[in-house]
Amino acid sequence: MELTEALTQLGFDEFRPGQREAVEMLLETGRLLLVAPTGGGKSLTYQLPALLLPGTTLVISPLIALMQDQVEALQRKGVAATYLAATLGYEEMVRRQRELAQGNFKLAYVAPERLFNPGFQQLVQRLECPLVAVDEAHCISEWGHDFRPEYLQIGTFCQRLRPPRILACTATATPVVRDEIVARLGLGDDTPQFVRGFARPNLTLRAAEVSGKSERSRHVDSLLAEALKRPGLKQGTAIIYGPTRRSTEEESARLAQRGWRTTFYHAGLSGDLRATAQRSFISGEVDVVVATNAFGMGIDRSDVRGVVHLAPPGSIEAYYQEVGRAGRDGEEAFGLLLTGPGDLPLRRRLLEQDGAANPDILEHKWNLFLELMRWIEGGSCRHDAILRYFGADGAQGGCGKCDVCLNLDATGDDEDRVETLVRQALCGVARLHGRYGLGAAVKLLRGDSDPRLERAGLHRVPTYGVLRDEPAPWLTRVMRRLVTAGWVSFTGDDRPRVLLTGSGHDVIHGRAPARVLLPPKQRKRPSPEPRRLKGRAEPRLVSLHDEQDPLFESLRGARLAMARNAGVPPYVVASDRTLRDLAATRPTSRDEMYQIYGMGPSRVKRFGERFLSVIREEV
Ligand code: ADP
Ligand code: ZN
Repeated sequence: MELTEALTQLGFDEFRPGQREAVEMLLETGRLLLVAPTGGGKSLTYQLPALLLPGTTLVISPLIALMQDQVEALQRKGVAATYLAATLGYEEMVRRQRELAQGNFKLAYVAPERLFNPGFQQLVQRLECPLVAVDEAHCISEWGHDFRPEYLQIGTFCQRLRPPRILACTATATPVVRDEIVARLGLGDDTPQFVRGFARPNLTLRAAEVSGKSERSRHVDSLLAEALKRPGLKQGTAIIYGPTRRSTEEESARLAQRGWRTTFYHAGLSGDLRATAQRSFISGEVDVVVATNAFGMGIDRSDVRGVVHLAPPGSIEAYYQEVGRAGRDGEEAFGLLLTGPGDLPLRRRLLEQDGAANPDILEHKWNLFLELMRWIEGGSCRHDAILRYFGADGAQGGCGKCDVCLNLDATGDDEDRVETLVRQALCGVARLHGRYGLGAAVKLLRGDSDPRLERAGLHRVPTYGVLRDEPAPWLTRVMRRLVTAGWVSFTGDDRPRVLLTGSGHDVIHGRAPARVLLPPKQRKRPSPEPRRLKGRAEPRLVSLHDEQDPLFESLRGARLAMARNAGVPPYVVASDRTLRDLAATRPTSRDEMYQIYGMGPSRVKRFGERFLSVIREEV
């Protein structure tokens, strides 16, 4: 069978950009890490070879609902496919495994926890398997945003089975996570990493800091009006993501009162209720579904016109995956991300309660979240900032229609004034000695009277009232930016108190610059008419090896090699941020290396020399 013939059997007329290249690369090299956004059409990259190659392709996938959908879709197209998961009854499982042993399927989807089931092990040894595809491969990464311990076994499974081809698919693009996937699956260091199509020019992205519920509701209402026009029009739908189960029910009720046809969805509902909610979303019975992040995987509706987040998710990856559910038909669609005063301490608490035993990972996840918060603050075009974050080069110099692009020419803060203000605010935090929260810091700076401050004698310190002319809500926003800049942190208990970090100390003492974009004093309304569009961006093909900073790439190679030698995941050697700092500052000695983010004494001792020699070679 030919490539195009197989494509027709899968029901498609033509390849999307990059799909043919990915399939050919896999068939040629036998190893591939494919990175593309959710909805980008990654499954074709294993389904098509599965049709071309003799034998049964195994697809390892974490979600039963997703497997079920794909298998049903394949069966409708006349492709022999099945799945094995714990939800099947015993007899059904036996039946499917027997058929599988007879080689009756072109594709079999398997949940990772089944891989080492004795029955399956026996079966798989006799199976002709030309290709193993690992879907949602970032789940293997502790460093990623969605780690699943069952995924750790996949590496061992592949090493025993030694299939001629292995494909790993993910929507997560940060280099450190990609390298961890390659390492943990036991793929060679030369495994090609193919990253494609992250730009979604039809999405208009916006983010806003709101001070409370009523402001939040106003944003939601106006976005829905813009994206869906009016209730019941049936021209597309919207998804609203809420941070908690309760928030989804409340927002759904509020919108229903305003006339929208709504439903809500979260993991606390019974299976029946969840199925009903999904059905009414897919059939278009509702205009809006308000859901936790449990909603969306495997739901394939191309005319979602808007995705709203009532609070920020855990990372840029998670955000992009969720907002990427809007506008898959290529028509105009909107993404709106809202954040309020409680989001930072809430996330810190969630992370600490998560019980992630490893403090490195906790800090890493906190940093993933701070990256998202910095993105929200918006120093540059929303699309460009995401592309930069993912390391997919080729920013457009502004999409011309996101909120940042529309507002960019507004401000012009004087640098000295910013520096002074930042130092004063940090001094205020330092004075609290980790005893009070963010609100107390603002009161101290403004010189507002408060019995707690007075009891502690803080109304007599020089910082008291230095920023008395600044409005409290604005100062609160400034404080949040000091947190996202990494200078202030929180204790992780129920009553989060603010703390000055090490780099916060450096800023106060002038050892580090106090550069930060201050929040606007009076927020402008976004103008309804988009400014001129700077030409529609084409979907982009990015092959990483030639587009990245070469020194960064060399350092990355060294990191992967050292990680293998030491038998640790790549993030233990160094994070991407550390590599970027190394590439940018090019230290020439161990001493200079200590100044770099994440390079403490033990890292310098273990890995410093090797990095230094890479830098020396490159210069
Ligand atoms: P991913 O796994 O990357 O999230 P999928 O493989 O599920 O994405 O594909 C998303 C949607 O795009 C599916 O509805 C799929 O049928 C559709 N699709 C994939 N490739 C093509 C193509 N070449 N032409 C038209 N539709 C496609
Ligand atoms: Zn923009």
